[in-house]
This record gives sequence, structure tokens and C-alpha cells, in this order.
Amino acid sequence: TTTVYRDEDADSSYIESETVAVLGYGSQGHAHALNLHESGVDVIVGLRENSSSWDEAEDAGLRVETPDVAAAEADVVKMLVPDTVQPAVYEAIEDGLDAGDTLQFAHGFNIHYGQIRPPEDVDVTMVAPKSPGHLVRRTYERGEGVPGLIAVYQDATGDAKERSLAYAQAIGCTRAGVVETTFQEEVETDLFGEQAVLCGGVTELMKMGYETLVDAGYSPEMAYFECMNEMKLIVDLIYEGGLMGMWNSVSDTAEYGGLTRGEYVVDEEYAREGMEQVLDEVQDGEFAREWISENQTNRPSYKQLRAAEEDHEIEDVGGRLRDLFAWEAQEDADEKEQVQA
Ligand code: NDP
Ligand code: MG
Ligand code: MG
Repeated sequence: TTTVYRDEDADSSYIESETVAVLGYGSQGHAHALNLHESGVDVIVGLRENSSSWDEAEDAGLRVETPDVAAAEADVVKMLVPDTVQPAVYEAIEDGLDAGDTLQFAHGFNIHYGQIRPPEDVDVTMVAPKSPGHLVRRTYERGEGVPGLIAVYQDATGDAKERSLAYAQAIGCTRAGVVETTFQEEVETDLFGEQAVLCGGVTELMKMGYETLVDAGYSPEMAYFECMNEMKLIVDLIYEGGLMGMWNSVSDTAEYGGLTRGEYVVDEEYAREGMEQVLDEVQDGEFAREWISENQTNRPSYKQLRAAEEDHEIEDVGGRLRDLFAWEAQEDADEKEQVQA
């Protein structure tokens, strides 16, 4: 069974005398920098000169330098700029990696697919919160934390795992629990999950459900509610109580209908074939090559697909309905207040 590391498994002495360069001050970057700082770790935020977040980081009491300066001074360099710009940022900081330093990631794409090739005398690790940055920050402030992953790709010092756990502790993750994985497993499961199920699968299912109802003459508003809006309620139930938690909460009619008709749509044989193809392209690097080449050519397919998604009728209908309903607006306002608090 999988070991879950908690606070008592981490030794803060592995990080308390180190300087950490946090490159980027976005979703993850701001949360890591502030949590590390408040845990007593010496932090330098690395940002490009014209960065819109430079002042924000300084106003929060953090020291800010350009990435090359921050990395040269640091013992641990944490890559928290977008994955697609990491190879370019790496080129700018590479000379600042001394023997025994750590190059650390929150996602393994660039290491796993060979877009960044660090020298052999540095530790290459991953400490990845399983959550968006604002929750990494908010839970830490409450004395809690979000679950996280650690992985060691290259252990030059012999202490790479201990150093990763100490970092995970300093950002709050060991308060919730940390699981060890590998770069390969993290990348392949992450890409598969977002493509086949979470982002790709779910949106295709919602759009097809909507189109089927509208094509049959039902109102777009009803189709939006039934096939998109209510998804959140069902997913929340599954998140809290698993499949049985959800089945127990919906009506017996919904349960019987779902259990018998679900496979009309997600046909076992066909769906498995599609999922295996998604996984194959992740494993053999075809997806990575395609996405890297998109980024090298100004993203032609990405832009086209995104424009088509934006034009889908469900966006129009949904946008109008979401504006109409006060409870959503109130929920958003509460959420924002909580983030600021
Ligand atoms: P963001 O998109 O939020 O990062 C934006 C930051 O990167 C900004 O500070 C921005 O500064 C800086 N930046 C952008 N372009 C450049 C550049 N060319 N040179 C220097 N700095 C630049 O990233 P995330 O926090 O979403 O992701 C960071 C890492 O964390 C990724 O590896 C991601 O996979 C991983 N991760 C993300 C999660 C999430 O929930 N977001 C969850 C788990 C892992 P500027 O003002 O200069 O643009
Ligand atoms: Mg993910
Ligand atoms: Mg991902």
C-alpha cells in the first residue's frame, strides 16, 4: 500500500538553512513563496523585469529579482512559470545551478519529455500540491494544507527525498498528506486524466447531451440546465461520498436510469479503445510532440479549437442564464471574500 507522509515524517532542517528561488508568482508561485516565507525559509521570487506581479510580490514582503539572479543565489530553484515557457526560463537560469542545488518542479512534463536537461550534479525533484494555488495559500493560512505529491528524478546529493519532504512541509502539504510518485507516473496520469475524463471527456459529453436535446426540439435553457449546470451538483456528491454517496442522494429513478442507460452512451468497447489511444499517445510522446510543435508555431490548432468552443451555442445560453441567477453571483462574491480574507 502507498505510504502517506505527514508532518512527523518531514525534517525541516533540510530546508531551514536554504534559499529558495520561486520562479513565477502566479497561481502556484504566490502560494509557495508566501507559505515558505512564513515557514521561516529564505525566499527570493524570480520574475522577468516587466512582470505585472513584481510589485505585488514586493508589497507582500518578498524579495524579487530576475530569474537568473534569484537562481544564482538559491540552493533550491522552483519552476513555477507556465510549463510552455519553462524551457526558455531554464536556459536563463541554468548557469546558476551549482553542484548540490535542487531544481524542482510542480509538474513533470518538461523533464519527462526531455525539454529540460539538467546537469547530473543537481537534485531534480517534484513537490506538487494536488490543488490550485489559492487553496494552497488559503489552507496554509488556516493552519491546514492540501494533499501533495513528491517525486525524485535525480538524486545527486543522496538527500533528494528528505529535501522534497521538507519543502512539502514548508508549504503545508504534509499537514494533509504527501504521496510519493515518479515523474513518469505523474505526467502520464495527469495528461490522461485531463484529456480522457476531466477536461476532454466531460466537455464532449456535456456538448453532445445539449445538442441531442436541442436538436430534438427542447429549449436550449432546459438543455443547458440538464446537461451542464447540474453536473456540478452530481460531481460534488461523488467528491464527498464516492459513487454510492451520489447514487444514494439522487432519486431511485435517476439511479436505475443511470445504471442501465449510461453505457448506451459510453459504450464499453468503443470508449476503452478511445481511452487506450489517448494513453498510447501520452506514453509514446506523440501528444507531447504535437503540443510542443504547436507552441513553436504560434498555436494554430489551439487557437482554432478554442474559437470554435467559444462559439458553441451552449456558451451563449449558459452565459445568459448564469448572469440571470442571483445565487451563483452571491456564491462567487462569497468565494472572493474568502480568498481576500
Ligand atoms: P501561472 O500561469 O499562474 O504562472 C504565471 C507566472 O509565471 C506569473 O508570475 C508570470 O509572470 C510568470 N511568467 C509567465 N511567462 C513568463 C516568462 N516568459 N518568463 C518569466 N516568467 C513568466 O502558472 P501555474 O501556477 O498555473 O503553474 C506553474 C506550475 O505549477 C506548472 O508547472 C503547472 O503545471 C504546475 N501546477 C499548477 C497547478 C495549478 O493549479 N495552477 C496545480 C499543480 C501544478 P508575468 O507577470 O511576467 O507574466
Ligand atoms: Mg492535473
Ligand atoms: Mg495537467
